[in-house]
Amino acid sequence: MNPTPFLPFTRPSIDERTIADVGEVLRSGWITTGPRCQALESALSQRFGGRPVRLVNSGTAALELALRLCGIGPGDEVITTPLSWVATANVVLAVGAEPVFVDVEATSRNLDLDQVEHAITPRTRALIPVDLAGLPVDRERLDAIARRHGLRVIEDAAQSFGARWAGREIGSFGDLVAFSFHANKNLTTAEGGCLVLNNEVEARRFEKLRLQGVTRLPDGTMDVEAWGDKANLTDVAAAIGLGQLRQVDAFTARRRALAERYLARWDRSLGFELPSADAAEHGNWHMFQPLLPRTIAPRRGDFITAMREHGIGVGVHYPAMHLFSLFRQRGHGPGDFPVAEDIGARTVTLPLFPAMADADVDRVCRAVAATVAALR
Ligand SMILES: *Cc1c(COP(=O)(O)O)cnc(C)c1O
Repeated sequence: MNPTPFLPFTRPSIDERTIADVGEVLRSGWITTGPRCQALESALSQRFGGRPVRLVNSGTAALELALRLCGIGPGDEVITTPLSWVATANVVLAVGAEPVFVDVEATSRNLDLDQVEHAITPRTRALIPVDLAGLPVDRERLDAIARRHGLRVIEDAAQSFGARWAGREIGSFGDLVAFSFHANKNLTTAEGGCLVLNNEVEARRFEKLRLQGVTRLPDGTMDVEAWGDKANLTDVAAAIGLGQLRQVDAFTARRRALAERYLARWDRSLGFELPSADAAEHGNWHMFQPLLPRTIAPRRGDFITAMREHGIGVGVHYPAMHLFSLFRQRGHGPGDFPVAEDIGARTVTLPLFPAMADADVDRVCRAVAATVAALR
């Protein structure tokens, strides 16, 4: 038998030119933060309409240092979604502030903007919207709420590089915008991230937060006025990012074509809930996530195992995080955010990445149908 290769739910695409460029960095004698990081910051800034961009070594660092830049700390509240990677709330805890969850809206699976204003208190300092699967939160409504209440917005755009809202690319407008370049994201540096800022003054302050609080003085010495983290990116990573940036628009187009094929081939009688049509319009198809039929959701583990037996990787992004022990210890429990809990219990991430073949989509669709038939 000719064994079909395992199809993971995602895989980075790194071309030979990028691999050669990484080799060049390694041979150059300068492997940490240097000219490649500078080039990537400029290229990203250019993409985002000239806004300042600063690289860091993870999306998590971009979010945490953005909170510190805003002076958010103990006694402050930050409103966010429970349906995200746990980093989104962990960074709020890291600065000593309180994450305040608001349930998601069923169609977009993003923060329910109808409920956000009810959660605002005199202690609220910021909103952290998350563009789940690369489908942007409604930026007009979000920014209007923030303006009305004098709040900062720290966009967790970890998943939405290349996505658009009302024709404008995420990152090119708004307050602070954090991207992740983790291996699974649409644009990767293996590990890494960046923050898009409002002006050069903020960018200078962010540079200090990123690297030990150091200010370089013209006479070759330095000063340190305040604490800073150790979160700078390496030129090795930036070389990967420069290679990705050349290709990311083609990657997004390929993701879109694959997602359209999924939607065209999908057997609607199986009872899954498919991603919102808005994703096709604004999103970057970071992930393709149907929700399991309610009859099968309690056996999601069996579904995943059966799909693996068909040679197909399935992920879970994400269980509602307020049900994790960490947040139960902080007083949360089942029933707090029913929409997020329902989606978190039923979601499955199916393979979607630029190097996939059309035939891979068909193979996944067939395996899903066979698995559902077996589990019924
Ligand atoms: C990946 C991700 C992060 C964290 O990014 P890292 O680069 O892994 O630190 C934060 N939020 C969301 C929504 C993510 O998907």
